Amino acid sequence: MALVDLPRPDIEAGLESAHRAYEEFAARGLSLDITRGKPGSDQLDLSADLLTAVTAENYRAPDGTDTRNYGGLDGLLELREMFGELFSVPASQLLAQGNSSLTLMSQALVFASLFGTADEDSVPWASGPRRILCPVPGYDRHFGLAEALGFELVTVPQDDEGPDMDAVRALTAEDPSVKGIWIVPMYSNPTGITVSEARAKELLDLETAAPDFRILWDNAYGLHHLREPHAALLDILGLAAASSRPDRVWMFASTSKITLPGAGVAFFAASPRDTDWFRKHLSPTSIGPDKVNQLRHLHFFGTPDGVRAHMEKHAALVLPKFEAVERILAEELGDLGIATWTAPNGGYFITLTVLPGTADRVVKLAAEAGVKLTPAGATHPYGLDPDNAVIRIAPTMPSLDEVEQAARGLAACVRLAAHEALLARDS
Ligand code: PMP
Repeated sequence: MALVDLPRPDIEAGLESAHRAYEEFAARGLSLDITRGKPGSDQLDLSADLLTAVTAENYRAPDGTDTRNYGGLDGLLELREMFGELFSVPASQLLAQGNSSLTLMSQALVFASLFGTADEDSVPWASGPRRILCPVPGYDRHFGLAEALGFELVTVPQDDEGPDMDAVRALTAEDPSVKGIWIVPMYSNPTGITVSEARAKELLDLETAAPDFRILWDNAYGLHHLREPHAALLDILGLAAASSRPDRVWMFASTSKITLPGAGVAFFAASPRDTDWFRKHLSPTSIGPDKVNQLRHLHFFGTPDGVRAHMEKHAALVLPKFEAVERILAEELGDLGIATWTAPNGGYFITLTVLPGTADRVVKLAAEAGVKLTPAGATHPYGLDPDNAVIRIAPTMPSLDEVEQAARGLAACVRLAAHEALLARDS
């Protein structure tokens, strides 16, 4: 029977046992960290050969470009062709840039804020109030970046197929200050959902008061499958080209969690017109990206299939950690009705939803027992989860053994916090 339905004496008895389990766990004096969506060192080892993939002998790109020198603002053609195939984007619309897609998102928003978009009726976004839609739970750095650039963050609920379109329609139909929406289309951070083609088309077809509304399509996990069968990556620019709003999408991606975070290659893609717009504003800021690093990636992978094979090696290391969390949460919390959790087919995160009002208590209990979790609320604009219920779990970085221990400890915290909350409610 679900905990909430038990009579008070049973919950009281449960509190004692939850307390004991928690104290036993805390007494082990562990120090575990499941906050960060970083690859484990075994995953980084997969890219060991990247570090030596360009030498004094092989620094020329296949088209003869001397990668050691300035130039080539778009990035190496052959790398754009490789990732263009993987992301279903023509190489002419894909720019390979520096080490961070977040930087490219920032640049796109800054260019639009200072100069307006390429749309005829667009004025600089910063000339008036500007808002951005934030499906929740979402990625805290998206929210933080937009906030830092002066956007008001507007929360939008989402389901398993993407953002709630009724909410999106209501917010965009009349208000021209709503300039865009964050979307992590595949294995979203942190829920792991994948946006359906139908929902993507609804976003493309959306009538918006802003003439220059954009979908910030962050394909950070588009290649990060964990289980078969998995959904196909959406050809979003193809769908946009076939829609009445071909310029609505700015796509971002990077190899941060494919090769080396902080030392990978980031990509921007858009319609031909918006790619020109981005390039035009990028041009005064750079004499060209790090082509040596781009060539390293080209040599290391060889072909798009090389990237796919590499991603399978990641999955082999990461999937057992996801399965461990899912198994332990099911064992410890399965029939209590006090938590649900996602079992994504890819990506980097599991979302744990606990009894409303208890997420911050769970995080605090866990910290005191030696398990560091992302602060409650981090998945929502301004760090405020109105239900105080969502906890993001990042199982990739610790070892499998540590992940198992952390999940066990976390479950004890969830149980204890739920018992406390139910007894407080009834008292
Ligand atoms: N987008 C999402 C959804 C992410 O989860 C992350 C990394 N946590 C990033 C972007 C950051 O990407 P990059 O390293 O390319 O800046």
